[in-house]
Amino acid sequence: MRIYNTLTSKVEDFEPINPPVVGIYACGPTVYDYPHIGNLRTFCCVDFLRRTLEYFSFQVKLVINITDVDDKIINAINQKKVSLREYTSIYEKYFFESIERLNIKGASFYPRATEHIKEMVDIIKELLKKGLAYKTEDGSIYFSVSSFKDYGKLSKINKDNLMVGARVNVDQYDKENPVDFALWKSYTPEDGEVYWDVEIGKGRPGWHIECSAMNRKYLGQPFDIHAGGIDLIFPHHENEIAQSEGAFDIMLAKYWFHVNHLIVEGQKMSKSLNNILTINDIDDPIALRFLYLQTHYRNKLNFTFDNLKGAKSALNSLTAFTSTLVDIERFFEEEKEEELNEEIEKIGKKFKDNFDEALKDDLNTPKALSSLFDLMHDVYTFINKYPKQFKKREAKFIIDLVNNADSVLGLDLFKVEPLPDEIRELMLMRKKAKDEKNWSLADEIRNKIREKGYIVEDTPWGTRCRKA
Ligand SMILES: [Zn+2]
Repeated sequence: MRIYNTLTSKVEDFEPINPPVVGIYACGPTVYDYPHIGNLRTFCCVDFLRRTLEYFSFQVKLVINITDVDDKIINAINQKKVSLREYTSIYEKYFFESIERLNIKGASFYPRATEHIKEMVDIIKELLKKGLAYKTEDGSIYFSVSSFKDYGKLSKINKDNLMVGARVNVDQYDKENPVDFALWKSYTPEDGEVYWDVEIGKGRPGWHIECSAMNRKYLGQPFDIHAGGIDLIFPHHENEIAQSEGAFDIMLAKYWFHVNHLIVEGQKMSKSLNNILTINDIDDPIALRFLYLQTHYRNKLNFTFDNLKGAKSALNSLTAFTSTLVDIERFFEEEKEEELNEEIEKIGKKFKDNFDEALKDDLNTPKALSSLFDLMHDVYTFINKYPKQFKKREAKFIIDLVNNADSVLGLDLFKVEPLPDEIRELMLMRKKAKDEKNWSLADEIRNKIREKGYIVEDTPWGTRCRKA
């Protein structure tokens, strides 16, 4: 498998440190707000990566952290007069709900920053000892960027812009200048109840040190893949490297995987434009997942509701295909003697080769997806041409291939939504009418079912009913 590595700016062969285990760390949500569909794109692409590695028989250990303390959270709880945990648990829950609705597989660990203060303090002590960090008069501790020679190697920022000794202690800064950043922020009255009284002083951690501490604890150092949104490359990931590699003189992560931005109807999502979308704005989360698959993770994705509609109908054509396969598989009896049709075997092999090759090529999910549509087209063409040669064995063969592919895509292609009782009863009435050759009544019932939003289809392999 080949994968693009931000660190080397190259597509490289993927060789894990301790195969078959692959350790992945993805920077998780800051739980002060609902995750928007741009954040969710990153987690979905990490899920594609994880499922692809599992598809190719690797054992993935995935860690997604929860940032549950930062400036914004502290401001919010002071305003709302609630405890840190009360506040963050709401957004934590929402994050988990969002990823579940997108069929994102669970991580091995979801460590919370507030539960790993000791690990952060240990790294900060090491950095102080090595002269890579210094304490200021107010008791805060900063990382000394000019003392770390490799600073800038990930983001390729221009070191000439180095502002020696300039400091920043807010969690988010978008200046292009590398400046000394806070590892530990000394206590101020605005922090209220949020502080830890530890040997390096009373205060709370900076954002970057949280990730260095948690990925080291759960994955060791070095680990295989560090993932996140493209906007985290600088300063967050650059600073993680500075802290972890500065403290322990070992590489932090071998591969750096970054997911590009998502824009909405051609514009950046922002509060001022009032266009921030969360999972609740999406009526069909699996169609959104389909949309994510359609764009390569390194390209910008322009989300539009028209595209979502398109994704939905493409998804419907795939599930109609899988339903047909299942109907055929059920319709025919097992035939022991017969061998798999050669032409179908060829069609299946071509699909699997193309699908696997696409994924191996830097996780080319749009190409993998289109190979599935090619398969659908080829199979339909075959069935139309040789309807008597596509039977149980052939259907089962294609079902297995699609099912396998869906273990990566995660589109629930074989999930059957149970019909409501009312529709099931109408279907039984229609069957009775048909058995009695009462065609006009059968048609009448079909129309009634249509009015309730369901479509009845009579196929050579039986009758099927699905949501319109
Ligand atoms: Zn992080």
